[in-house]
Amino acid sequence: MKLKPFDKSGKFYKGNLHGHSDYSDGLLKPKTVIEFYKSYSYDFTCLSDHLWHDKRFAAESVNDVSDFNFKDFITIPSAEIHVKGKKYERAGLWHLVANGLPLDFKIASDNETVDELLNRIIETGAFVTIAHPEWYSLSSDEAIKVSNAHAVEIYNHAATISSNRGSGIATADFLLNNNKKILLTASDDSHFHKEDALGGWVFVKCKNLSIQNILYSLKNGNYYSSTGIAIHNIELDDNELLIQCSPASHIIISGSSNTCLSKNGYNITSAKFDLNKLDTSFFRVTVLNEYGKYAWSNPYWLDEIFKDWSND
Ligand SMILES: [Zn+2]
Ligand SMILES: [Zn+2]
Repeated sequence: MKLKPFDKSGKFYKGNLHGHSDYSDGLLKPKTVIEFYKSYSYDFTCLSDHLWHDKRFAAESVNDVSDFNFKDFITIPSAEIHVKGKKYERAGLWHLVANGLPLDFKIASDNETVDELLNRIIETGAFVTIAHPEWYSLSSDEAIKVSNAHAVEIYNHAATISSNRGSGIATADFLLNNNKKILLTASDDSHFHKEDALGGWVFVKCKNLSIQNILYSLKNGNYYSSTGIAIHNIELDDNELLIQCSPASHIIISGSSNTCLSKNGYNITSAKFDLNKLDTSFFRVTVLNEYGKYAWSNPYWLDEIFKDWSND
């Protein structure tokens, strides 16, 4: 049986979930950012401009991008929302990225807590991501506080090239080991003051391109993340897991605690693993090529896969 998103009909739409324009602290006008992503064959982007009451880097309202929706390219109303109370951030601010946010979403107040803010965002139906956990040393206690988010940003391109703190894998695995069913995203966090775009993205499976369809697929984990390599298929038959991908040097299965399996070599385009050898409740797939490009599946939970099978 194919696993999601490869079991769904439709096509993969490429998009950036986290980026900024001059509506907050980015360099370029919203229209220019959108034309940029469109010109590089993306299908959608998100202008997640900072939402906070500090005019030096943020706006006090959600950026209205409704003029930038075309038949073959859409822009999802988004924001990177801040609230007080984060350790290891110079201004003491949390960073949460929300995609599919209503334009009238209210800025956080000075006494709102991060869990209150997170619940308020989730209630709107937006897709919420814990932004760049490594960039600001998100502690395990802090990760638990925001574990109701849909996803963890496991690759932030701007943080990778600016501070060598762009990973979120440790936070994601910590939450997964605590039985939190969290998804994974890769994004640019582009500001365009330097070449910080086109580094990390998601491929979202939908029947056709619309804001509603992209959000539905994101929330249901019908996508995978990439920095430049493709996963073509992930399939589980009995306990044999098959992965097919573009040429890679490493295909890796990561499970609970430190369990793992891998196939390593040159120009590998498929691998089979016996999941009986992995004592785990979940696993995720990583593909890596010789140029350091990655693709990451979302985590799969064995109880959910077997529940799906019994419903068939
Ligand atoms: Zn941020
Ligand atoms: Zn950002």
